[in-house]
Amino acid sequence: MIEQQIKTAIRDIHDFPKPGIIFKDITPILKDPELCTKINDAFLEKLQGLHIDAVAGVESRGFLFGLTLANKLGVPFIPVRKAGKLPHTVKQKVYDLEYGTATIEVHTDAFNPGDRILIHDDLLATGGTVMATSQLIQEMGGEVVGFSFIVGLSFLNGIERISPISDNIIILAD
Ligand code: IMP
Repeated sequence: MIEQQIKTAIRDIHDFPKPGIIFKDITPILKDPELCTKINDAFLEKLQGLHIDAVAGVESRGFLFGLTLANKLGVPFIPVRKAGKLPHTVKQKVYDLEYGTATIEVHTDAFNPGDRILIHDDLLATGGTVMATSQLIQEMGGEVVGFSFIVGLSFLNGIERISPISDNIIILAD
């Protein structure tokens, strides 16, 4: 089963990036092209019937499968980047972290108002990153129609946080 294969591939890195944190390292998945194909197929299967105009991927690991997903759906990919990385005119959103704030940006011409957008990232933790992404997309006139993640850390209750935006939440391994 794909969930078990993902869990087996992912490795826990203790004390990264800070002491006390157990980081879920998804890079072993990338070494396994068969598993990558299965992940893409699983997303596509679960997204069947959902009308999507574009996929927004969150920097940086959200780019890995987000772009492939957009290509396979035949829709544009929207890179959601950290401040100062996108070269054209941007709209930004500042959001709170545990300590301090972070800023994400999207090109103002990345999608059209009214577009139905799927937000993709590798991992759902507290949901803060995709919540900020949702708010930015909504402020730009987009409609967030769902979320997709390879992994979810259910003990951090990210689903509860983002479900008011959309309850189409795909998590392949929880
Ligand atoms: P959240 O905003 O708390 O949901 O954190 C999710 C964001 O942080 C995503 O962009 C993830 O890529 C990143 N992230 C947080 N924890 C991990 C982890 O253990 N492994 C990989 N990425 C993580």
